Amino acid sequence: MGSEPKNLHVLVLTYPTQGHVNPMLQFCKSLASKGVTTTVAVTAFIFNTFKPHDGSIHWDTISDGFDDGGFAAATGIEHYLETFKAAGSRTLTELIQRHRDSGRPIDAIVYDALMPWALDVAKGFGLVAATFFTMPCSVNLIYYYVDKGLLRLPVAEGSYPVCLPSLPPLMPPDMPSFIYVPDSYPQYLYLLLNQMPNIQGADYILVNSVREFEPLETDEMSKIGPKLLTIGPTIPSFYIDKNNVNDKKYELDLFTIEPKEASSTRTWLKTKPKSSVIYVSFGSMAKLNTTQMAELAAGLIESNYYFIWVVRASEEEKLPKGFAPEKGLILRWSSQLEVLSSEAIGSFFTHSGWNSTLESLCLGVPMVAMPQWTDQPTTGKYVADVWKVGVRVKVGEDGIVRKEEIKACIEAVMEGDRAIEFKQNALKWKQLGLEALQQGGSSSNHIEEFIAGVMDKIA
Ligand code: UDP
Repeated sequence: MGSEPKNLHVLVLTYPTQGHVNPMLQFCKSLASKGVTTTVAVTAFIFNTFKPHDGSIHWDTISDGFDDGGFAAATGIEHYLETFKAAGSRTLTELIQRHRDSGRPIDAIVYDALMPWALDVAKGFGLVAATFFTMPCSVNLIYYYVDKGLLRLPVAEGSYPVCLPSLPPLMPPDMPSFIYVPDSYPQYLYLLLNQMPNIQGADYILVNSVREFEPLETDEMSKIGPKLLTIGPTIPSFYIDKNNVNDKKYELDLFTIEPKEASSTRTWLKTKPKSSVIYVSFGSMAKLNTTQMAELAAGLIESNYYFIWVVRASEEEKLPKGFAPEKGLILRWSSQLEVLSSEAIGSFFTHSGWNSTLESLCLGVPMVAMPQWTDQPTTGKYVADVWKVGVRVKVGEDGIVRKEEIKACIEAVMEGDRAIEFKQNALKWKQLGLEALQQGGSSSNHIEEFIAGVMDKIA
């Protein structure tokens, strides 16, 4: 094996959801841009739902056991995970063998931390292995502390605020939902806790975060064992520094954007004054109930700003009957990075998914956080209290965020007393995010360190 990155062959294995495939795909492109031969493996179902369009990386597939229907074809998460582990281990083994036989063997595997069984396969072949966390260090640490018994579940009400090493004091609404209500989705809690037990066997831990965004948390997570490297934000250059204008089309189009709709959104945004539009999106999975949709619709209308609201096709029927706002645009899916990059956007009303939050921070857009579940509450806490780039909604006792609260939060980020502070802070994080990716920046250095380290290990 020569000492050139091009002689290195890295396989990147993704967990099949939008929020996981996107960042890992972008990481693949970073590796490829540094000369590494990079193959991404997605499930056959995911592969068939979109057309790969980035020629710098190679594509391959494994099976989750549901090649025709994906997760929706399983009877539930437990059934899906069990089948995925069995079919995934088998087809990953076949894939590695195939590449060996073809004379272009794989040297290292980067696998999503949600698929810890990939480590056993990698080690069976003697490959270098890196586990990739798509969530921030703060959230990963919470799951780590639970796995290690430092945080016992269920957390007794009297134990709040919970004080854990290198994390801010956490109240119930700051906790990942699966931790705060452990029996809400026990299989998801299991999936997340299961990222940890065999982690010592990995050679690297990669995290889709920026060290400067969570320095204490990153240092704390670095103590777990394997070398930890933050490599984010995984956002194409086209949207943030324009060093590579071709680094743009990376999105996994699980949800289609009609070119006509993208173009009319662009035109609509161009006609709006600077910082005058609220972008509203709850990502690819969160579901609001009908009452909450009605309150959000009313809050948006009453706040009287322009808005773009992404309502996925599966959610459309929950919109109030005949909802046709004069100042609003309802889209089934958006080109989110393009929208957030528009000067017309004044704030992002978000479910605080980690990718959306990173995108907003790195594009300098203040946020109203309305977390729904999983890691989102913790990210919402950081948005309001750590990064201070916006506010988090208060949820009523009935679990609903009322229109008055929605309106008040929108006003707070658009033109309230702290609106300028939020914007200035957002611009500060944007700058730090950009610097991390530039030559000599923390994430850029970490990607190089990873490549050099793998080359060393296989030399
Ligand atoms: N996204 C998009 N268009 C939309 C809504 C979301 O392109 O209309 C992208 C968004 O840019 C982000 C991802 O989908 O990269 C959502 O990931 P996130 O972690 O924010 O939330 P999840 O979907 O996992 O809940």
